[in-house]
Amino acid sequence: MSEREFLRVIKRMPRIHCARGPKGCRKCSELEALDNKEGMQLSLIHVYLSPGVYTSPITDFIFNGERVYGEYDVIKRFKDVIEAKEYAENNNIKITFF
Ligand SMILES: [Zn+2]
Repeated sequence: MSEREFLRVIKRMPRIHCARGPKGCRKCSELEALDNKEGMQLSLIHVYLSPGVYTSPITDFIFNGERVYGEYDVIKRFKDVIEAKEYAENNNIKITFF
């Protein structure tokens, strides 16, 4: 694991299976269909504030009123809003993009 500084954010994220994505992979396109049907999953992500060595997906969110962009890792996925809210409260994390 890297020592990079990160922010913990809970946000709706697409279900990702692999780097090929929905156009190149059947499993990915199934997951994309599920996102479209049920909505994306609320997920705990670590957003890194400094650029990394690897090319990683980028996400954005609002932090102190400003839009912040950074590479991220998905740490945890929540099965529903209640579970996500409970985790956020217990861990002092902001939820964005409901
Ligand atoms: Zn895939």
